[in-house]
Amino acid sequence: MNIDSSLPAAWVAEFETTMNNLGAVLPVSERIHSVPDIKMPFHVFAWNSAIPNPFPQIRGASGASISGNDLLGKHMILEIPEREFIDNSLHRYAVIAHEYFHIYQIGLSEEIMKPTWMIEGGATIVEEIYTQQYYGQSEFDRGLFPVSATVLNNPQAFERFERDGGLVGSPADINYNSSAFMVLALIDMLEGRAIPEACAFKLVLKDFVAERPDHVDWRDAFQSVFAMSVEDFYSALRDGPYPSTGATDDWYQGAAIDVGAVLPSKSLTLNEIFAAT
Ligand SMILES: [Zn+2]
Repeated sequence: MNIDSSLPAAWVAEFETTMNNLGAVLPVSERIHSVPDIKMPFHVFAWNSAIPNPFPQIRGASGASISGNDLLGKHMILEIPEREFIDNSLHRYAVIAHEYFHIYQIGLSEEIMKPTWMIEGGATIVEEIYTQQYYGQSEFDRGLFPVSATVLNNPQAFERFERDGGLVGSPADINYNSSAFMVLALIDMLEGRAIPEACAFKLVLKDFVAERPDHVDWRDAFQSVFAMSVEDFYSALRDGPYPSTGATDDWYQGAAIDVGAVLPSKSLTLNEIFAAT
């Protein structure tokens, strides 16, 4: 582990606890060893944004992601914003769960990370359930605000990152909230078929990802796991009970929707989800 001393001891301790918690509840599949770009040991690089990136092995890297380079293969980058320490923001810990879950997804899917709304939305939901479970609070408490109304009219645009011509990670997907909403709406539709909550979460967060390598087109994996076509899902989004919040925040311009109808139970845990059958 390359954990820079610019990070407080309390963060380092929490990092180790979080990785241990997640490793116990959702262990990374052994299939990860057959992913070409995975080399052992798996490297983590973490530092406080108060200082420049201190690691010559990942020169130019910033932010938080799972990235790859020829020498190291895939590795985790955690540049923790100094502001999150000043503001006591839980995100400085939640981001660990988010990036860990991407490794979990890579292991199950053999690195077929599509569609992007499922991948980023899934990691964001795991991140929030983690903080709900271990810290007693999450962005769900704030209604996952803001979820852009764009998601109802143009869900297809969330199949790709903004850098690839889509809307994931764009101003219409702040904190990946719009992507996370799409995943929660899908889960809600599954629950509507009398599938228990934890099982519905597992179908989307785990079973779909594991099904991906068996299909060339992700739409076929979607149909196979959810017994629903992607087109029907997108239409159901448009027709769903998601009114405008009417809320205006000084930092958010645009139409946001109220997603209270699809938020998970406050008591839902990662243990229940990943142990569900
Ligand atoms: Zn992510």
